[in-house]
Amino acid sequence: MKFLKLKLLLPIIFIFPWAINSQIEYPKDYFSKPVEIPLVLSGNFGESRSNHFHSGLDIKTKNKEGLKIINSADGYISRIKIAHGGFGKALYIDHPNGFTTVYAHLKKFNKEIENYIKKIQYKRQSYEIDLYLNKNDFPINKNDVIAFSGNTGSSSGPHLHYEIRKSSNQKPLNPILFGMHVDDSRRPEIKSVYAYNNVDINNYKSDPIKLSLKKINDSIFKTSEINLTGNSGFGINVYDRQDGANNKNGVYNISTYYNDELINSINYNGFLFEESILINTLIDFKHYINNKERVIKLFKTSGNKLSFYEKENNGLINIKPNYSEFKIKISDIEKNSILIIIPINSEKEIITYQKKEKLDLAIYNKKINNDLNYNFISGEQKVNIPKNTFLQNVDLYINLSKDSLKIINPNIPVFKNIKVIFPNSNSNQGNYLANIDQYKEETFITSYLNADNNFETKTKQLGTFYIKNDSIPPIIKNSNFKNGEWISNKNYLKLKILDKETGIKKYRGTINGKWVLFEYEYKRDEIFYEFDKYYVNKLKNEVEITVEDMVGNISIYKSIFYRKSN
Ligand SMILES: [Zn+2]
Repeated sequence: MKFLKLKLLLPIIFIFPWAINSQIEYPKDYFSKPVEIPLVLSGNFGESRSNHFHSGLDIKTKNKEGLKIINSADGYISRIKIAHGGFGKALYIDHPNGFTTVYAHLKKFNKEIENYIKKIQYKRQSYEIDLYLNKNDFPINKNDVIAFSGNTGSSSGPHLHYEIRKSSNQKPLNPILFGMHVDDSRRPEIKSVYAYNNVDINNYKSDPIKLSLKKINDSIFKTSEINLTGNSGFGINVYDRQDGANNKNGVYNISTYYNDELINSINYNGFLFEESILINTLIDFKHYINNKERVIKLFKTSGNKLSFYEKENNGLINIKPNYSEFKIKISDIEKNSILIIIPINSEKEIITYQKKEKLDLAIYNKKINNDLNYNFISGEQKVNIPKNTFLQNVDLYINLSKDSLKIINPNIPVFKNIKVIFPNSNSNQGNYLANIDQYKEETFITSYLNADNNFETKTKQLGTFYIKNDSIPPIIKNSNFKNGEWISNKNYLKLKILDKETGIKKYRGTINGKWVLFEYEYKRDEIFYEFDKYYVNKLKNEVEITVEDMVGNISIYKSIFYRKSN
């Protein structure tokens, strides 16, 4: 897992051109489904994930790898990407109608593509590759078998991740809108409903009040009654299950009404990748950090420039003094829906909201005005917080001491990178900058030293930074063969590679001194080489593996194997 800590740093742009909604025409019968079996989903479009919205459909592949992946429409391969994390092995196909289909976590490509990409991998001596192709390089027909399903990259089980994007801006769109069919006769299910009393959208600090739920019938739920004042809003935790699987997937539409007047509406039709980090403005981030529950706020707080909304308002309601009702209608894309009724300010006054003591402020010593750029310096230690890092003014605990540097407030999302400089005090080999967060989880941050021998990094991670030392080199172990063994009947070599502390930075495998293509499956701490046409058949062979961890500790493994030459 350590390997994935080299996070992809997405640039955040603070102009939001997508806020102006442009209408997209969705051709309905153009794209055929990418697998031969009926579509059963383990994840759907727009679902809330960690720091992003899910950009496609996760199609189940009967819990196994190797299912045929079918090209959705005529076009050409525009990109082939192979990475240890992320999408693993992925194909991008551009179609003449202006859309791109994406197929990810593949086990392997078809023979033609496989030969093509292998040639480039051997030339560059790299398993990871990101190749952009031109229109005439690799034309491909609708219904061609382009690949076989797998579990490569950051995937937690065999499935196909499938996307349809607008080619011009790579905007992922909901594939179901293109006529992909998934059997779904089940209504969305509501897990919890929260009220937020007296919300200040610019200095958002409200704590959610959980409402109890009563089922009236299959489609109508009523919450406990609540007394609210001023600008109030609501939040929900909701999911949808389709037929054929019990996976808790996302819903398609959430509409809110106050006394039957439409307040706001969210549709998961599409979003730009630049918008994805704004998930942390949609969910109640503080609640998520403290309870691991993602609650979608049905009102916009500052910085929420997401393009999902149908109406230009913030979704808050000004509570009327007398009895009123707030309603939430939640639908999946097949229009199965539920309605939640929230009675407000009834005469009975069953629940009164008790304002919680705000202890937070006392423990934070710095007020950060989001419009300003901040530098905190103590000796060689430096912290730079650029403006717009948080999308609103926040309170932080900042402390620069000899042994550690603290930037703490676990309850706020970070949208821009904070620059951290920390002196490499004793300059020992194997030193690195580590971080510990509110869950006491320790992570490797960087081993990069700048010209002044200081660790320097840009990070969205808050917490306590300090120096640690990793002196233990990676572990390399043969796994499907023994030293000196005859393996004429085996068609691949498999080894375990593992670094317990900082993780693996790079690896390299050779046979008889020649680089060969070892694929790395980080989830299993495994590298494997399938004997291919680049292997020169010999009786006695020496395999050599070199693995380096994030701080430069290197292990070298050598072994002999024998193979009958033809
Ligand atoms: Zn996916």
